[in-house]
Amino acid sequence: QTVSPFLEPGPRTKPNSLAVLQLSRDNFVPVYLQQASGEHDGYVEGAVINTRYGSFPHSTLLNVPWGSQVRASKVDTGSRGRKRKWQLDEEAGRATSEPIEDEKETGNGAGEENGDGDEGKQLVTDTSGFIHVLPPTPEIWTTSLPHRTQVVYTPDASYILHRIRARPGSTLIEAGAGSGSFTHASARAVYNGSLVKGKRPGKVFSFEFHEERYHKMKKELSDHALDGIVQLTHRDVYKDGFLVDGKSPEADAVFLDLPAPWEALPLLSRQRPQLREGEAGEAGANPWVSPLHPKKSVFICTFSPCVEQVTRTVSTLRHLGWVDIEMVEIANRKLHTARDRVGLYLPVDRGVNSSAKDIEEAITKLTEIEERFRENARPKQPADGSEPAKVASKAATNGKTSVDEAALKYPWLDGRLVTRGEPEIKTHTSYLVFAVLPMVWTAEDEATALARYPIGN
Ligand code: SAM
Repeated sequence: QTVSPFLEPGPRTKPNSLAVLQLSRDNFVPVYLQQASGEHDGYVEGAVINTRYGSFPHSTLLNVPWGSQVRASKVDTGSRGRKRKWQLDEEAGRATSEPIEDEKETGNGAGEENGDGDEGKQLVTDTSGFIHVLPPTPEIWTTSLPHRTQVVYTPDASYILHRIRARPGSTLIEAGAGSGSFTHASARAVYNGSLVKGKRPGKVFSFEFHEERYHKMKKELSDHALDGIVQLTHRDVYKDGFLVDGKSPEADAVFLDLPAPWEALPLLSRQRPQLREGEAGEAGANPWVSPLHPKKSVFICTFSPCVEQVTRTVSTLRHLGWVDIEMVEIANRKLHTARDRVGLYLPVDRGVNSSAKDIEEAITKLTEIEERFRENARPKQPADGSEPAKVASKAATNGKTSVDEAALKYPWLDGRLVTRGEPEIKTHTSYLVFAVLPMVWTAEDEATALARYPIGN
């Protein structure tokens, strides 16, 4: 089975696989890269991605190292039905004309590495736009995925996965799947590499009761080659619990992003849940099978937007024997830090490698700027015609300033670091409730432990 590009992307982009195009810092577009078919009116064009930064034929994005910057190509997509000059020449039996100036190969690194000779006829002049080709990761997917619900963003997902101890080989139950944001993060967390005998493979059992969302997500998991590690079930977990094909997933980690987590908790017990009010028969499977790992402590997180939901969840957790119950809110703040550039840079190494001329020029410029500042700071002539107050200016009497003196005096000339909080923070603030259901310690476990670690020896 193909390994998901989310788990093992390999060194380069591949045909028929997911890549993420980064158009600008926060603008990502997921794309399935297609090999050009060669069927378009005699010249190979294949699929083209059109963005505000230019057009990018898939051929320029294929087989390039992840992270590559690819320049835009001017692609005449409107002329598919039209013949190109070189085609008309060929048909008329004339020697094939050189591709006209705007039909020359772009010469960007990606096109050359592609090594597909036919492509030379479809790519035309470079334009100034470019994009970066990135491997799909849960973090990028979360910011670019088609939203069908509220999603769990990376600051929450990473903290949750850490607290519920999701690690290679873990078995995680998740409900509801929603848009699959958390699912992708959890799949990577539990992935245990290529299977070695005796190694737990790591698995996510995901549940979603909304039929359309279930089908969309099912397709997405298969497109992303994650269907081997994530098993999605169409299910109302409040009613029908968490067994899969009647068997226990034996989960050691649980994440509930549901409107009423307390409704699902009784079915995440080790013992048969008590009947709920109004329930006629026995709750859950018969005979009762717990979906939890029988020989491990289980770590849970529930994700709820309001504190009333938290209160009900905490009370149910207490009632069902969960311990170490704690609520956390992630107050994520994204900071934007940039160097504030003020139009003049000192020679970077302050003269170590700069020529005498460079330094001389920098000092002259600094002195000019300094003079302009002094001019601006000088008190204006008061309206009553009296003398303006004297400004003591050491620099004024010193003549020229050295580069180091100027840099000390005006640190912003080197480009000052400016940090601002970003107003738009992509995180859906919710309260996270964590708890642990300890493993049940039997007399047999005690005997095994004593045999392995005898007391007094
Ligand atoms: N964690 C998801 C993500 O990161 O994309 C988002 C989950 S969304 C907020 C909640 C989902 O729970 C919805 O898709 C909803 O259909 C599903 N859901 C609600 N009640 C459910 C139930 N009883 N059984 C299964 N799924 C349920």
